[in-house]
Amino acid sequence: MKSVEKRGLMDNRPVAVVTGASRGIGRAIALDLAGAGFDIAGIDLALKTTPERAGLDGLAVELADLGAAFLPIEADISLLEGHGKIVTDIEEAFGRIDTLVNNAGIAPLERRDVLETTPESFDEVLSVNLRGTFFLTQAIAGRMIETAEAGDGFSSIIFITSISAEVSSVNRVEYCVSKAGLSMVSTVFADRLAEHGIRVYEVRPGIIETDMTALVKEKYDRLIDGGAVPLGRWGQPDDIARVVTSLACADLGYSTGTVIDASGGMNIRSL
Ligand code: NAD
Repeated sequence: MKSVEKRGLMDNRPVAVVTGASRGIGRAIALDLAGAGFDIAGIDLALKTTPERAGLDGLAVELADLGAAFLPIEADISLLEGHGKIVTDIEEAFGRIDTLVNNAGIAPLERRDVLETTPESFDEVLSVNLRGTFFLTQAIAGRMIETAEAGDGFSSIIFITSISAEVSSVNRVEYCVSKAGLSMVSTVFADRLAEHGIRVYEVRPGIIETDMTALVKEKYDRLIDGGAVPLGRWGQPDDIARVVTSLACADLGYSTGTVIDASGGMNIRSL
């Protein structure tokens, strides 16, 4: 396990903000970062546990067991008017932000052929995955610059995009477009924030076993059996979490604007 404290990076505990922290990849990221010594601000749509959703309240218990302080924030990142309060709440709770993990994302409610994509679905997916994530990053980056310039830590922003930033799926163009756009957002923030020492990375997961892929599990089982993933298995949320923790702990400290593939080799073009 990575550890900021063992690596002597920080005097105080660093703080990571994780969007979409209730479940799936975001939850695994929050727990792995906490294990490495981060305190966590976790953002998601709802605090409460329901049968379908483990919720931020459940995460609070697990984070406490790891000795991490936790600020649960109930917010929809697509609502830009809420971003100011998110930053203020984190500021009041922790006084610093070292890492932002832009993980929250949605798939189209219904997969439809590109010839039948509706404007409503297009707008909805882009409002969360691209617009909401972009403006939340803009809102948080200002605070991160202050932390970075205090000079006692390592600052990073990590965008969870997808292989869909490059790989076409004809029945969910809005998702592919949102992730391709977010990939450029990552590049531009890397360019702009380098002078402040803030590293920016893009992580591209492949096929990961979460609620998001549960509806298409059989299709992906068949694809994996047929060899679509060179490493031959589903990815797990922890596979992505370990990459994120490595980045947040400065393992790639002389890199920024870098894309890290975490897809079991689906990035390989093969003849
Ligand atoms: P998930 O659906 O299991 O979890 C997503 C979380 O984000 C949920 O807790 C949800 O409530 C939250 N969220 C959604 N919209 C939000 C909003 N507007 N504001 C705040 N929180 C919101 O999905 P996952 O599989 O864990 O995916 C996490 C990220 O990884 C997403 O960006 C997704 O696009 C990306 N990704 C997933 C896969 C995969 O195969 N599962 C592959 C590539 C990329």
